[in-house]
Amino acid sequence: MDTPIAVNIADVSKSFGQFEAVKNVDLQLKQGEFFSLLGPSGCGKSTLLRMIAGFEDPTEGSITIDGREMKGIEANHRPTNMVFQSYAIFPHLNVEENIVFGLARSGLSKGEKRAKANEMLEKVGLAGLGRRGAHELSGGQRQRVALARALVLEPKVLLLDEPMSALDKKLREQMQMELRALQRSVGITFLMVTHDQHEAMTISDRCGVMFGGKLAQVDAPEILYQAPRTKQVADFIGGMNFIEGQIGAHEGGSLEIDLPVFGKVSVDEHGVSERAGAPITIGLRPERIHVEKNRPEGADVFAEAEVVDRAFYGETIHYYLALNGRKDPIIASITNFERREHFEIGEKVWSGFRGAAAVALPQD
Ligand code: ADP
Ligand code: MG
Repeated sequence: MDTPIAVNIADVSKSFGQFEAVKNVDLQLKQGEFFSLLGPSGCGKSTLLRMIAGFEDPTEGSITIDGREMKGIEANHRPTNMVFQSYAIFPHLNVEENIVFGLARSGLSKGEKRAKANEMLEKVGLAGLGRRGAHELSGGQRQRVALARALVLEPKVLLLDEPMSALDKKLREQMQMELRALQRSVGITFLMVTHDQHEAMTISDRCGVMFGGKLAQVDAPEILYQAPRTKQVADFIGGMNFIEGQIGAHEGGSLEIDLPVFGKVSVDEHGVSERAGAPITIGLRPERIHVEKNRPEGADVFAEAEVVDRAFYGETIHYYLALNGRKDPIIASITNFERREHFEIGEKVWSGFRGAAAVALPQD
């Protein structure tokens, strides 16, 4: 049986005066999944989240949670809870009191509330810290308290708005893995908003990418990365080289594309329906470009190139390759293996790629 739907967002739009912040969004969140809304600042992520929480009303469309229409239902009566970027925990209360606070109207006895709070503290890795003052906590610990406080109410959906943006990089990466583990252990649907593509990709079952109020693509992280549907998505998720060419022919699921410099290459059709002669762009991830001293054996197409710049990242090296007949250099990312040959700026090399590594992107 299909996983039940936790949240159904049907043709939802939101205008602030003349300005349309969210445009005709259709999205279904499955029960128990970790879903991220990803996109640049100002694209409407928080507005969409706030409509689910009940802090904003949609101008058009409908939101149902667990099959229940949310129109007219106040935020505090919705089966949702929100974790904010600024954790908003009470500084004058201790950890346990902060968590119990949310249970004020739950009808539970004092002892039951404490037991629940402590169970939650254990889940977020703060066992034994119930008596600690909120002001005595590190940023990461405050974040965990905020999570525990939101989860102790057992919402159907936990909404998280850039929950880790106030943490430094190392701590953020650690929290990402913990958040993922916590979500699996409680089994609640998580909807997180972030502008950080790495964060979204590493944690989520699925991501929705938004630009200018519209949902551009919804897919699992691997698919977003390997098969972005538009240039905008391709460019936003990781590094991407774009090479313009012309469609030669369609051949049973493949496209023959004529590229300047590289010549003819066959790539997956990827839903591109334009006819022969139409312009087309292919996207190539930097790690899919071969750079070798001699003509690459494993590539379907290749061309001579010159290294015009390089950047050392530790685990990888990026080479900027100038090709005759192409204005912008292409970027190749090479894993920094032991005994791998390295190239100098100014060195003549060969670059190439396999057709299977390229993604055909329709003209925007
Ligand atoms: P994101 O979370 O993706 O950064 P937001 O959803 O916060 O973006 O905002 C989307 C757009 O809507 C922005 O241009 C923002 O300025 C605008 N906006 C958000 N809330 C309001 C509001 N209450 N009144 C007017 N404009 C708003
Ligand atoms: Mg926001």
